[in-house]
Amino acid sequence: MAIDPVCKMQVEETRAAATTIYQGKTYYFCAPGCKRAFEKEPEKYLGKSG
Ligand SMILES: [Zn+2]
Repeated sequence: MAIDPVCKMQVEETRAAATTIYQGKTYYFCAPGCKRAFEKEPEKYLGKSG
């Protein structure tokens, strides 16, 4: 299982609603809206602000 970095939900890689590659790493999302939010401000969701 992967963790959706936007909403912190567990996402099964094979069933993810959306994926993106950022800095060489694949991220999985529960919904297209989470992907859009991540792509808009990826650093916000990658721990730089907690
Ligand atoms: Zn999500």
